[in-house]
Amino acid sequence: MGLFLLIEDFDLKLFIQSILSKIYLLLKNSYTFLLGSFNGGLKLIKLSNLLGFIILFFSFILVFRRWKNRIPSNSISSKECIKCESLSNRVKTSFKSKVLEFIFKLKIRKYQCGKCNFSYLSVKKKQSKS
Ligand SMILES: [Zn+2]
Repeated sequence: MGLFLLIEDFDLKLFIQSILSKIYLLLKNSYTFLLGSFNGGLKLIKLSNLLGFIILFFSFILVFRRWKNRIPSNSISSKECIKCESLSNRVKTSFKSKVLEFIFKLKIRKYQCGKCNFSYLSVKKKQSKS
């Protein structure tokens, strides 16, 4: 190396320049590579999150469908209080049960007993036309 430097002194600057530019390119490349893989990793994480979310959503729906299938179409004789079996009044259902009604095609009615003030939900499957 020393000999090389002595003999070809003129090329030294070029040599250093080329080495520097090569190092610079290498750093730049590795930087963009790292950045790219970092971004790719982020995208991968987002994708897996999305996939996980989708899987979770579908399993949620499946679980609810199973749960729905377990409900007999006339599960509760709705107008009698579960506790004291006296007549109860229909009251307004909550927004949440309305959403559930819509998503799972159920009939959710809320009743409140006039005698013991006990309130309960009556859940029925919507009658399908088939
Ligand atoms: Zn009651």
